[in-house]
Amino acid sequence: MKTIYLDNNATTRVADEVLETMLPYFTQLYGNPSSMHSFGGQVGQKIREAREQAAALIGAAPEEIVFTSCGTESDNAAIRSALQTRPDKKHIIISRVEHPAVRALCSHLSLQGYKVTELPVDRNGLVDLENLENQLTPDTAVVSLMWGNNETGVLFPVEAAARLAHEKGVLFHTDAVQAVGKIPINMANNPIDMLSLSGHKLHAPKGVGILFIRRGTKFSPYLIGGHQEHERRGGTENTAGIIGLGRACELAGRNLEKENTEVRRLRDKLERELLKKIPQSRVNGDIENRLPNTANISFEYVEGEAILLLMNELGICASSGSACTSGSLQPSHVLRAMGVPFTMAHGSIRFSLSVYNTEAEVDFVIEKMPGIIERLREMSPFWKQAGQSCNVQ
Ligand code: PLP
Repeated sequence: MKTIYLDNNATTRVADEVLETMLPYFTQLYGNPSSMHSFGGQVGQKIREAREQAAALIGAAPEEIVFTSCGTESDNAAIRSALQTRPDKKHIIISRVEHPAVRALCSHLSLQGYKVTELPVDRNGLVDLENLENQLTPDTAVVSLMWGNNETGVLFPVEAAARLAHEKGVLFHTDAVQAVGKIPINMANNPIDMLSLSGHKLHAPKGVGILFIRRGTKFSPYLIGGHQEHERRGGTENTAGIIGLGRACELAGRNLEKENTEVRRLRDKLERELLKKIPQSRVNGDIENRLPNTANISFEYVEGEAILLLMNELGICASSGSACTSGSLQPSHVLRAMGVPFTMAHGSIRFSLSVYNTEAEVDFVIEKMPGIIERLREMSPFWKQAGQSCNVQ
């Protein structure tokens, strides 16, 4: 059975070009980039190149790029550094829909005496900037808001939010793990102080990420050890991973237009056709302000996990809620924060596409989904009680 992979916000396949670039660094060019000999030195040179490739994708300077192990590490390092470099300040502002890499860290920090404000979102998943402005106090050390939401794809106005934070002298970090490679990002002309990204979301391998730290921003390292990354992140470099990520960033730059034309077109087709064919279904999240690859669709009165199981039987991979929270039958914290009714939130599926998806795959999903939902609704007492007749969309 062929796999139709529509779960690219969970992770992506490593691009062939990326794998090919990485392979020699396991068995042939395995030197330590910090070594004095040229065998290691040549790896150091390749890491410099990867740093330039990554910087170019987000309009940064190479020295503003710090390689880490993942998006979670980058988020943790950014927020912890903001607190360490401003020890007199004890207040953090995030949103209610942040990824656990930020949200769980902040819950942990709240047990250590920090005050955490979680900004609410409206029914479209957007934050209110006026509310952000009102929540900033002289005690606020850092604001951390995600650029693109992993479940709905909704984009936050992070540049405007960073400007507001700066007006009050507050640092601004963004978790751009889902945004990088999907929308244009230019750190050269925005005020954001720190940005996190993750390799495995953009066709590089798992186990490598980046923290962008704007030149001049005070930084206190999370991993203290050797002199690597100009003492901003100790530990022998994941050389193959870093070199692969550099190549993936170069490819992502080239594919950016395709993401915003071809991938968007396929996503829109999928959404349009499913809504047309399946009664009582709806899209979650602001339609205009979204990543081009993400569709979060609710099918009322059915259970997301049951939908996924039947999709799985046909080789179709997607997620219900976020991949990190599946396993619990609680609807996702993102949909709950948006006030999506329980009967809708329970039956929500996230389809996330990539440049590797084809029209034929999307057509297959469009053909199969109505039958899946119908089959489950036939078994659903809630659907029967609701009278089956009303048509929401
Ligand atoms: N932030 C967001 C928005 C994510 O979607 C994810 C992963 O799903 C992460 C952070 C964590 O990234 P990583 O898996 O590289 O730790």
